[in-house]
Amino acid sequence: MLQDIPKSVDIEFDPDPAQDNDTVLCFDGRKLLSRLQDNKAVLPKLSQLDSSCKLVFAFKADGIRYFLCLEKASADGFSFEPLGSFRYVTADTDQYAIITGYHYYCFHSENKFCAKCGAKLEHSPHKRCMVCTCCGKEVYPTIAPAIILGIIDEDTDSILLTRYAGREYKKYALVAGFIEMGESAEMAAKREAMEETGLDIEDIEFFGTQPWGMAQNLLIGYFAKVRGSREIHRDTEELSEALWVKREDVPAQPGGASLTSEMMWAFRSSQR
Ligand SMILES: [Zn+2]
Repeated sequence: MLQDIPKSVDIEFDPDPAQDNDTVLCFDGRKLLSRLQDNKAVLPKLSQLDSSCKLVFAFKADGIRYFLCLEKASADGFSFEPLGSFRYVTADTDQYAIITGYHYYCFHSENKFCAKCGAKLEHSPHKRCMVCTCCGKEVYPTIAPAIILGIIDEDTDSILLTRYAGREYKKYALVAGFIEMGESAEMAAKREAMEETGLDIEDIEFFGTQPWGMAQNLLIGYFAKVRGSREIHRDTEELSEALWVKREDVPAQPGGASLTSEMMWAFRSSQR
């Protein structure tokens, strides 16, 4: 999964200023200063930027220190490429960094003023949070927990696959949704199954988790068994398709970077 692509991830905040060979993540909306080379994303080093920019430490992965650029920078040989173009590149440490860096970028672009008193926020020099320059309120990156659910019908040895309606991602997916206030993840799984497909579930079993910075999520994966009727009542606003797919027909391969693909492979290869 995404977090397993780098051999090591060190998320602890490093207050030391950026050095010439540190890697820079410079976003402009859903575009990133980068270039595609041999189906891989290449990111600029600090020494390659055309001018000095305001930077903040993001994280360290495989010994590489990544910094978020808080201004629009430029670098010779690099241009602002749409983030979608990195979705299917060879999975490497930079891909993890781009997706997680985008989470950090969203945090910075959405938190410029204090929601309590309206004064300016500034990044703490000691930790990964913004601090109000007037009342001292601390604001941390938002992480929205969401569930992903593999619903299994043991009678027909099938899993329920879906396609999202109106989204960039067009491949098969699993039932998914945000956890609401006051819900456990298991309650959300049960509710989402009913809302999206009209199916009742039981024996909800934890599979794994994955950070997903593109939507500021923490994804929590479960498998569950369908209970009662197998008839699908699809939520047509959320899903363009929902169908039962036999184990041997599940379009999945090992080593996927996403929790969804890992879960689909786990079912296909009879690990579930
Ligand atoms: Zn304040």
